[in-house]
Amino acid sequence: MRELVLATRSRGKLAELQPLCSALGYVARTLEDVGVVESADEEGIEAFDTFEENALAKARYFWARCGGRPVIADDSGLVVAALGGAPGVHSRRWSGRNDLSGKALDDANNARLAGLMRDQVNRRASYVCVAVWLDQGQELLARGETSGQILEVAAGAGGFGYDPLFLSDDLGVSFGEATREAKAGVSHRGRALRALMTQVRAGR
Ligand code: IMP
Repeated sequence: MRELVLATRSRGKLAELQPLCSALGYVARTLEDVGVVESADEEGIEAFDTFEENALAKARYFWARCGGRPVIADDSGLVVAALGGAPGVHSRRWSGRNDLSGKALDDANNARLAGLMRDQVNRRASYVCVAVWLDQGQELLARGETSGQILEVAAGAGGFGYDPLFLSDDLGVSFGEATREAKAGVSHRGRALRALMTQVRAGR
């Protein structure tokens, strides 16, 4: 089986995407697996104002470092209508707490979101993901979205990021309460990746 590289250092994303890749006849590897050592430059890759530009920049950066293997990169975030689309492409570092990571960073981001949404009547929001496939000059791009509402009080401890505050229209529960499988079935990332894989299959 041919290898492809997921432009991520997260084992969670690998676990989520591996089944989609094997259905196409590829074994998915992470950057660590193929020896791409983390460098300070990486912080500056996703410096654009759109998910599309950021995902493309990430795919191109890592493709040049992955020995000719196909690369899949994605960029995603939360888009809140009442906040003019924020945090959007700035979702990961929205709290400004550059000293934090993991759960502590998620908590800081969620505290900012809950605070800004306290008196908002319009609570509509969506998660957006743009996924890119890059292989020998073949660039394919797909967008996935999932809609919902920002809760006043966090519900559930599953998922990551803003999931406990995101009430999914499709599931009727927060992404923090959903199982991993239920979330993947309706999530922005699941939708973007499935659409991308359909294009990859059609393009071969
Ligand atoms: P990434 O581009 O997939 O690394 O996502 C950037 C940021 O968007 C994450 O650090 C989270 O804050 C937020 N985000 C993206 N996808 C999700 C999700 O499925 N659940 C919760 N937060 C997410």
